[in-house]
Amino acid sequence: MRSDLSSRPHLQKVHAQNNGTIYDDHMMSSTNELIAEGRYRHFQEHNRQVGHFPYSEAIIHGEPKEISIWCSNDYLGMGQHPNVRKAMKEAIDLHGAGSGGTRNISGNHGDIIALEHELSILHEKPKALVFGCGYLANQATLSTLGRLLPDCLILSDDQNHASMIQGISASKSEKKIFKHNDIDHLEDLLKEQPKSRCKVIAFESVYSMDGDIGPIAKIIELAKRYNAMTYLDEVHAVGMYGPTGAGVAEREGLNNEIDIIQGTLAKAYGVVGGYIASSSALIDAIRSHASGFIFTSTMPPSIAAGARASIAHLRQSSYEREAMHSAVAYLKKRLTLARIPFLPSESHITPIMIADPRLCKAVADELLSNFDIYVQPINYPTVAKGTERLRVTLSPNHTPVMIDKFVEALHTVWTKFQLPFERNNCKDQAG
Ligand code: PLP
Repeated sequence: MRSDLSSRPHLQKVHAQNNGTIYDDHMMSSTNELIAEGRYRHFQEHNRQVGHFPYSEAIIHGEPKEISIWCSNDYLGMGQHPNVRKAMKEAIDLHGAGSGGTRNISGNHGDIIALEHELSILHEKPKALVFGCGYLANQATLSTLGRLLPDCLILSDDQNHASMIQGISASKSEKKIFKHNDIDHLEDLLKEQPKSRCKVIAFESVYSMDGDIGPIAKIIELAKRYNAMTYLDEVHAVGMYGPTGAGVAEREGLNNEIDIIQGTLAKAYGVVGGYIASSSALIDAIRSHASGFIFTSTMPPSIAAGARASIAHLRQSSYEREAMHSAVAYLKKRLTLARIPFLPSESHITPIMIADPRLCKAVADELLSNFDIYVQPINYPTVAKGTERLRVTLSPNHTPVMIDKFVEALHTVWTKFQLPFERNNCKDQAG
């Protein structure tokens, strides 16, 4: 095969454009649009140090600086827990770094089998299946489910996570979107369908950006009445709610009533990975047909062992959950007194509303540079335009003194930027 381009002028041109910028120009113009809209994303480098969570060492203008973190999804600080670190180190020393393959070809190690067993017990389901991350668990399961169920209709909450939306689109099934948490709308859509038709209702327990909670019991009731399956994303709830941390469905005594529970190992469990828990027949089918499961390497033994240690710890210890929830209640009370507007969420997520992408970034920058407080501004497409916010999440380690200082800093910045102070609707948090 000839490798020189001199005798092929048309290829020479493409080559020149490729190296010389036409592709980069397209990329840069798409990025420039984001910059113009004030929603270009700056990733803040910071390095957490074991034993100091929620403090961390940020790199700002090339210099290290200690900051406190107010937006971590390591909700319970389990990423640093001694049991988790020990399990991971032991697994590396015993089994090495990687898994060596896919589940089918040489990668089916004991730690992943034990993790799936732990998850099936947690959710009181016959079987569980682990994926590389929660995104993949949603995408692979929903896309496969829609293809395996004949003439399937997927009913999806309009606030569902991007990974569910992607999975539903890839399934090529018919889909209908119901208004967020709107049981009447969902029922209207179900009523139109023959009872015998395959239907999947896909929704979440804790919605990650507003922090509100899906009406799980009512959706189950509708699913039973109209012969539909339920698919519940508990990504922001596992480890956090319920007596053993199995999520909101467990808290409400509904674990057994949901057909498929999906979760992550990357948030309250502090590691990485995603999963579903369901019937043996369903898990067997997804395991056998889902491209996003079949054609990807198994998670390493160390990750599986660390996640399992984290789940096992949070099954028997409520201390972390309780300490985190009381820190959140205290924060909501202090914000209410300071008249800083936040969505009155029922969960551990406290969205502090700014409703402008540039202002949101300016507030976050000011908090970081003048108060060493790190809270990432959240903008479109993660939330709708005009609802930009600071999404605050606390851990068991955020003390009342830290929270007082955080609210004082917010108050100062709010005043500086002339943001509106408002009475919050959160009456039960006041006083
Ligand atoms: N589902 C929801 C509701 C999420 O918010 C996220 C991520 O934030 C995911 C799924 C994906 O989980 P993971 O981070 O494990 O990929």
